[in-house]
Amino acid sequence: MTKVRHGVLPTRREDLLARLAEPRTYDVAVVGGGATGLGVALDAAARGFSVVLVESHDFAKGTSSRATKLVHGGVRYLAQGNIALVREALHERTTLLANAPHLAQPLAFVMPSYHWWETPFYGAGLTAYDLLAGKAGLGKTRFLGRAATLSRLPNAQPNGLCGGVEYWDGQFNDARLALALARTAAAQGALLVNYCRASGLLFDDGKVTGLQCEDMETGATLRLRASCVINATGVWVDALRQLDGEANSGDGRRSTKPMVAPSQGVHLVVERDFLPGDVGLMVPKTADGRVLFAVPWLGKVILGTTDTPRNDLAREPEPFKEEVEFILSEAARYLRRAPTRADVRSMWVGLRPLVKPQNDDGDNTKGLSREHTVLVSRSGLVTVTGGKWTTYRAMAEDVLEKCFDKDLLPRRPGGVTTHMRVVGAEPTEAAPELIAHAPGLHSYGSEQSAVQSMPGAKRELSPGLSEAMVRFAVRHEYARCVEDVLARRSRLLFLDARLAASLAAKVAAIVAEETGLDPQTDAFLSLAQDYLRVPQ
Ligand SMILES: Cc1cc2nc3c(=O)[nH]c(=O)nc-3n(C[C@H](O)[C@H](O)[C@H](O)COP(=O)(O)OP(=O)(O)OC[C@H]3O[C@@H](n4cnc5c(N)ncnc54)[C@H](O)[C@@H]3O)c2cc1C
Repeated sequence: MTKVRHGVLPTRREDLLARLAEPRTYDVAVVGGGATGLGVALDAAARGFSVVLVESHDFAKGTSSRATKLVHGGVRYLAQGNIALVREALHERTTLLANAPHLAQPLAFVMPSYHWWETPFYGAGLTAYDLLAGKAGLGKTRFLGRAATLSRLPNAQPNGLCGGVEYWDGQFNDARLALALARTAAAQGALLVNYCRASGLLFDDGKVTGLQCEDMETGATLRLRASCVINATGVWVDALRQLDGEANSGDGRRSTKPMVAPSQGVHLVVERDFLPGDVGLMVPKTADGRVLFAVPWLGKVILGTTDTPRNDLAREPEPFKEEVEFILSEAARYLRRAPTRADVRSMWVGLRPLVKPQNDDGDNTKGLSREHTVLVSRSGLVTVTGGKWTTYRAMAEDVLEKCFDKDLLPRRPGGVTTHMRVVGAEPTEAAPELIAHAPGLHSYGSEQSAVQSMPGAKRELSPGLSEAMVRFAVRHEYARCVEDVLARRSRLLFLDARLAASLAAKVAAIVAEETGLDPQTDAFLSLAQDYLRVPQ
């Protein structure tokens, strides 16, 4: 197991910007600080390449903080017959659980059956899932009788219940894993800067040789030179591809065919008493033929998700009324005491970067591939999108392989991140379970003592959030405003938007003291309102 031990690195913005302004040519410049870009930055830095990454907003502000929180092989893709995708994801599931045990853990799921044939039918599929996992299996699939199903899912609808199947997958804290990847890449020498947008591409003789960037806090612009530029901007990849196409089209006007068909997924968060017990619930086939989950997470329950085509690429997409109705009505089919709109504590929407096949109008996103795609343009711009969080590490390896194949980088051996624990993952005592505990010190793994050494360790703003954690977020985790702290460092916005709003002023005072900047309190309060506004 490779250990990354560089102490707790500071993330002072002045220092990061001073490094960014140094005239030099990087081996790799990554655009986008979600799972995909961070994975590439970490892999490249771990192979000894010089790496810079710019993120226009906060790390994981895009899709990568809005997952259903599953580290999974994808039982649904098994049903679609995509064995290779499932096998790779099951392998990556094990790798992720081993490298970030404080942020990613195994979780059992129960699929309740209401027709006699469901247990043998789905049970056979889930047994195949186990077999595919082989040594990477987390626990054996078990067939449950009615009583055993009810004891595992005490709030399951008992009317018509025949039995169930229990199987294993994993769950994780997505935004905190993204931050851990960023900080692990930094520990390997990469320079990562959030709130810095790639506004243009630089070319020499028709080849991409760097980026034009804008510091989103000051508006200052700067140029970054790199041998290899990676476009890892999720659902936004087509904007940079368009700039690339225009620059190389002769008349400057050629439009590039979009490769992404975005699809939105809504999640509703409710109290844990709607899903007591220590398992998640999986609905194998909803009315529209999807899989739906109820996942116990950080002391609450996540219900989701949906799959609705959406093309406006909003930063904070709003849920459609029908999506909320769909989730609540499906939950009511399976739960004895079902949540209503009034029970929703928070609600968030993520955009899937699904890759369009040729000649596809993107209207039916359920049928689109969940696999990732790496494209290298004529000018050498490398674009990667699609895939899922669980497979971010394998995607990064594929991206570097493509860069070697196209002679953008000298070939260096891979597999360097397979056994690399992320920052905070050095073994302490067994990590507390993500399902049972609200956010708190446990999320910091082996960095708990570093957090506790900050001023304000004894001053709790709310259970699980101390003044010291806010200071740590600014000094060591790149946080710049209230939203960065409450949405992606502590996760309270995603768990209980009302509680998060009530803490905004206290968090703001600490952030302002640390950064000397406006902590953007009003913008956060308005966002928290949006996370509570369930469409009627
Ligand atoms: C509803 C939903 C549920 C999901 N659930 C799961 C799950 O349970 N498990 C799982 O494994 N996967 C899940 N996924 C998939 C997974 O979340 C995504 O595949 C993954 O997060 C995509 O990461 P990304 O880095 O490609 O995109 P993003 O996270 O969106 O990152 C792209 C980044 O690029 C930045 N950017 C854009 N333009 C620029 C620019 N010009 N300059 C600089 N930066 C820029 C953006 O701000 C953004 O942060 C889910 C996805 C959705 C939508």
